[in-house]
Amino acid sequence: MAYNIKEIFYSLQGEGHHAGRPAIFCRFTGCNLWNGLEKSRQNSDCDFCDTDFTGTDGTYGGKYSTAQELADIIKTIWPKNALGKPYVVCTGGEPLLQLDRALILKLQEYGFEVAAETNGTKTAPKELDWVCVSPKNLDKLIQKSGNEIKLVYPLSHIKPKDVENLDFQHFYLQPLDEGKETQKNTQAVIDYCLKNPKWHMSLQRHKLLNIR
Ligand code: SF4
Repeated sequence: MAYNIKEIFYSLQGEGHHAGRPAIFCRFTGCNLWNGLEKSRQNSDCDFCDTDFTGTDGTYGGKYSTAQELADIIKTIWPKNALGKPYVVCTGGEPLLQLDRALILKLQEYGFEVAAETNGTKTAPKELDWVCVSPKNLDKLIQKSGNEIKLVYPLSHIKPKDVENLDFQHFYLQPLDEGKETQKNTQAVIDYCLKNPKWHMSLQRHKLLNIR
């Protein structure tokens, strides 16, 4: 199987349970909840996306013909002879449109712990080491278990109560990034978590720190 990749880069995880952890981010091209075109945003299933996942023109972006070819590139980006378990986050777009068992196993053979950040509309391969679901459309949500759920807040169409009994180990609320309203949304997350301590706050630290 071939993989269309927007970009691959090494940085610190900004969000959720592994915030602060060095990771390689492998961004898969394409999403099934929005086509990435501004003219379609309003009528899409996900109208607040802040990520460019179209095309294959980013750093190390391209069409990789095999799992081995893609895993080899990812392996070369991880710092040589470094202590600590290599960690790769498969993201997007929607990575589960392309990420398959063959690629996960090849990355694990190279020593990587493999995570995926998904909108939950596809079943996550059981071989994944870490599954983070960030639901955007409840009607299309089929991956209802995993390691962490990260809900953008506030959303008019998904409330924390809609997903708080799903089978996850960690529950995160992350302020909706919408320009001038972001501070208000951040306060709303603080207030909600203080009243409902099952939920913890996740911040997009990479944006706050202006790192990739
Ligand atoms: S599901 Fe994720 S990648 Fe897809 S449009 Fe929404 S925020 Fe963007």
